[in-house]
Amino acid sequence: MTQAEDKKTVLRAEDPFSFACHHDLPCFTQCCRDVNIYLTPYDVLRLRRALGLGSAEFLERHTRHFLAKITHIPVVQLAMDEKTLRCHFVGEDGCRVYDHRPWACRMFPLDLADRDDEYTLLAGKERCFGLKEGARWTVAQWLQTQDVEPYAVMERAFQTVMPLNFKPGQPLEPGLGKLLFLAYDLDRFAAMLEDPKLTRLYEIDPERLRRAREDDEEMLRLAFDYIRSQLAELLELL
Ligand code: SF4
Ligand code: SF4
Repeated sequence: MTQAEDKKTVLRAEDPFSFACHHDLPCFTQCCRDVNIYLTPYDVLRLRRALGLGSAEFLERHTRHFLAKITHIPVVQLAMDEKTLRCHFVGEDGCRVYDHRPWACRMFPLDLADRDDEYTLLAGKERCFGLKEGARWTVAQWLQTQDVEPYAVMERAFQTVMPLNFKPGQPLEPGLGKLLFLAYDLDRFAAMLEDPKLTRLYEIDPERLRRAREDDEEMLRLAFDYIRSQLAELLELL
């Protein structure tokens, strides 16, 4: 397999590419400016925990979020500074939330392709000079060094909240879009669980609830389960 030379080439796990990002490159931090970065619920969890913010405060201060016009699916994007168009978290030395940076930032310069286990290069060498550097990786090595797996696992779990017969792009009622948004605003979901009537009604196991109150990741998985059961019930009624 030859090295991918352009950003449309589809790459698989064992395919090689050259890349090294460092301070001396003229493009350093340029990719953290005026860019659309879509956040997953797990991205929000990791970032707001690292910043010591509640989910609502994080979403308000550091994201643009809305329900998509026709489908009403929640869209959550990392906010850029209004004046400089730079990401709120970029500094002189690079990313200031590096250990908790979003999935898309970890993957860069790779992006997910349309099919499972396939990737493309998101940028070209004219924009991302790191692609001209000598360090060689396979896609699998790169994803491993960037610790992408926990993000991929959580996102796969989030994808299962939609009923099996739901077709991508199918419009949802706005109320169901708001229900999906609970996965991003996890503190609101946790506050709902303070109501014993709700936990009894949805038969939430008290031991699991106790664990979730101590473990954000478990709270997120519980939110996925709650959203899945609610969506299944409500879509049946519509
Ligand atoms: S454009 Fe590429 S090489 Fe330049 S800072 Fe961004 S990731 Fe690094
Ligand atoms: S989170 Fe970090 S890596 Fe991602 S755009 Fe912002 S500064 Fe860049």
